[in-house]
Amino acid sequence: MTVFAIWIAEFREKALQSGISGVVLDQAFAEVSLNATVLEKDRNQPEHVTPIWDYLDRAVSKPRVDGARQALRDNLDLISSIEAKFGVEKEFLVAIWGLESNFGALRGNYPVIEALATLAYDGRRRALFEGQLLAALRIVQSGDIAAENLVGSWAGAMGHTQFMPTSYLDHAVDFDGDGRRDIWADDPADALASTAAYLAAKGWTHGLGWGGEVMLAKGFDYALANDIIAKTTKDWRRAGVTAVRSSEIPMDKLATLIAPAGARGPAFLVSQNFQTVLRYNNAQPYALAVCSLADRAAGDDATDIDWPRTDKALSPAQIKELQEILVRLNYTSDAADGMLGPQTSAAIRAYQKASGRPADGYASFELLQKLRGLDAG
Ligand code: CA
Repeated sequence: MTVFAIWIAEFREKALQSGISGVVLDQAFAEVSLNATVLEKDRNQPEHVTPIWDYLDRAVSKPRVDGARQALRDNLDLISSIEAKFGVEKEFLVAIWGLESNFGALRGNYPVIEALATLAYDGRRRALFEGQLLAALRIVQSGDIAAENLVGSWAGAMGHTQFMPTSYLDHAVDFDGDGRRDIWADDPADALASTAAYLAAKGWTHGLGWGGEVMLAKGFDYALANDIIAKTTKDWRRAGVTAVRSSEIPMDKLATLIAPAGARGPAFLVSQNFQTVLRYNNAQPYALAVCSLADRAAGDDATDIDWPRTDKALSPAQIKELQEILVRLNYTSDAADGMLGPQTSAAIRAYQKASGRPADGYASFELLQKLRGLDAG
């Protein structure tokens, strides 16, 4: 027996105890072996982080916008009835569809049970993938799809809108009424309705909009551009925020301010709906892409956003170096992990505040150079 086969035998025991039947397990694991391509994909970490402006250029390209408008025309009745039932505007559904699978063209062909078993066995994020594998087995057991037809991305995201198995179990719906929640079919009805159901469950509000780009008064306190700070649109205006484009968020609704490229870049006032898109995929560039594509799908013209395109993005190694210096200079005690998150941002803000700079918390190359100097001096 290979080590992988032993791991599967042990996992089967856990799955049996969780209520998966032996018959389902036999079917699900019949053809499963360690998938070398999946391992390669998982280990192939990019050397450089894509700057948000490059990501947005690709994610909301002219062909993607044309595709979104076409998809909206081609599926208008379906998506309108999904909007009517779940209260999620059709442009946002089409935008997610475009970003997740290029409107169904790239849904993924990896065997999901095998991919998830490989990733769980490999162990880098074992708990996550064991949970997803168990959820995938529950899907098979539910009868919605046979194990051999359960396909998706190398990391187990499935169908037109790339649902993970746990999201499927919690939110998938049978919109066309054929008795199966089929997000894998060529027909996108169930997948798009499932995505709408997901967003509705995570707090989507019809008619709220997502927000938009804003201007900030001179000397604006960038410490306020922090996703833990929510104010009403009215209070943001008092704090020095003015709308460039109609931000659409009603004055009494809570919004947060984001400046994804720091004080040198644009700022956006975003509503709760933007936070809901983040629940779908927790990355600011992704959420901005979905919302911009939704605007474009709705007929808006392209807007020129003034990104600091000459800024160099930090590599994971440089981010780690930055974090290590922040520890040495006593701005944080968090271990360096090479990934940007709220802790690193808070440590950068602490340094910026102490040195009288705009406290945007943004990890720029310029900041790294300054900190290198301080660290050496
Ligand atoms: Ca169905």
